[in-house]
Amino acid sequence: MKTNLISDILSAHDTEQANRILRSCVHCGFCNATCPTYQIRGDELDGPRGRIYLIKQMLEGETPSRKTQLHLDRCLTCRNCESTCPSGVEYSHLLNIGRSVINEKVSRSLFQRLLHFSLRKLFLSKHLFSLLLGSGQLVRPLMPTSIKRSIPAKQKKLPFEKKSHRKKILLIAGCVQSDLQPNIDIAAKLVFDKLNIECVEPASAGCCGSLSHHLNAEEEAIHIIKTNIDHWWPSIKSRTVEAICMTASGCGVAIKEYEQLLADDKDYADKARTISALYKDPAEIVAQLLNNDKQTTTKLLSRQQDNKPVNKNIAFHPPCTLQHGMQLKNVIEPILEACGYTVQNFTDKHLCCGSAGTYSITQRKLSQQLLSNKLNNIEKAEPDVIVTANIGCQLHLQSGTETPVKHWLELLL
Ligand code: SF4
Ligand code: SF4
Repeated sequence: MKTNLISDILSAHDTEQANRILRSCVHCGFCNATCPTYQIRGDELDGPRGRIYLIKQMLEGETPSRKTQLHLDRCLTCRNCESTCPSGVEYSHLLNIGRSVINEKVSRSLFQRLLHFSLRKLFLSKHLFSLLLGSGQLVRPLMPTSIKRSIPAKQKKLPFEKKSHRKKILLIAGCVQSDLQPNIDIAAKLVFDKLNIECVEPASAGCCGSLSHHLNAEEEAIHIIKTNIDHWWPSIKSRTVEAICMTASGCGVAIKEYEQLLADDKDYADKARTISALYKDPAEIVAQLLNNDKQTTTKLLSRQQDNKPVNKNIAFHPPCTLQHGMQLKNVIEPILEACGYTVQNFTDKHLCCGSAGTYSITQRKLSQQLLSNKLNNIEKAEPDVIVTANIGCQLHLQSGTETPVKHWLELLL
C-alpha cells in the first residue's frame, strides 16, 4: 500500500512505524473473514482492512470525524486479523498509533468522557472497588438470576503455605482479580509449588496499565507502567526471578507491549524491553516442563488429585490475548488432557467472546451478541465446566450461563 504520511502528526519513531505497517498491507481482505465485528456488522469500515484505511487517511492529513472514531472504538483489539494476515501486518500496533491521534483530534461526548473517567476511577481505586464489590456480594442472593450471574460470589480462600524453591518467578497480582477471584492466584502458587517453583510477589501490586491505555488515558497508562517497572526492577536486576507471570492473559499481553509503548523513552526503553522479554504466561512454563519430562511433570501435577474425579468434560475458551496476542495456541488443552480432563472442541473457537477489557461496558450491544454466539457454540459440546485463562473472559462468560466457568489453573489442584 502506497503512503504519503504527514510528518508533523506523529513522532519520528511512530511515523516510521506507521509507514512500515501500512506499506506491509496488500489490501487482500483475508483478515475480514475472521474479524468478529465485520462478521456481525458486514461493514467494510468495521473490519481490519477498512480500519487500516481510515487510519491511513487520517495520517495523510484527512480530518477524522466521530464516525471514524466509532469504527475504531468498535474494534475489540482481539488481533484475530493478525493471526489471519498472510503479510504479517502489525494491526494492533497501527491501531494504537491511530487511536492516540484520533483521540487528540476528535472530542468525545460528555457521556463517553464520564463513562471512561468513572471506569478508570472504579478499577484503579482498590478501596472503592472492594467496597462496591463487597456490597454487591451482600445483596447478590436477593438479585434476579441475570444480575446475580454478573456478580461473582465471594470466594472462600484456599489455604496456601509458602515454601521456598531455588527456581523463582515474579507473580504479579494486577488490579481487581484478587478481589473478584482470589483463588486464581492462589491456584497458581499451589500449582507452581507442586512443580518446585516459588512465586515471588512484588512489594506493591496494581494495574498493568491496559485499562487506562484502552480508555485513551495515555499519560496515565505510561505513568502506571513506569511505576510497575520501578517496583519489579529490583527482582529482575538481582536475577532473583527467571520469569514474570500473570494469571490473566489480558494483562500478560499488556506487559508484552511495554517494550513497544516505551520504545522512545531514554530512561525506560531498555528496562521495558527486558521486562517484555522476561514475561511468560503460566501455560508456557507448565507446557515447557511437560515437554521436557511428561511423566514426572504429570506425576507432580497429579500429587493432590488422587481422590478427585478427573475425567470431566470441559470446554476450553482460549482468550484472544492468549491465542492471537501472544500466539499461544493449543498450549493449555494438552496440559489439561495430561491431567485427565476430556477437552471438547466447539465451533468458532478462534473468535472473541466479547469481553475485551471494558468493551463489554463501552460497546455493550456488540459484546452481548458475541457472548451469545460464543456460549451457543460452547454449550452444544455440553461441558461440565467451561475453562479459560483470563479473568475478563471468565466473568463475561459466567454472566451468560449456569455452567461453571473456571480458570484452567484451578483444575490442576
Ligand atoms: S491486513 Fe493483511 S489480511 Fe488484511 S488486507 Fe492487509 S494484508 Fe490483507
Ligand atoms: S482486532 Fe479483532 S475486531 Fe479489531 S479489526 Fe482485528 S479482528 Fe477485527
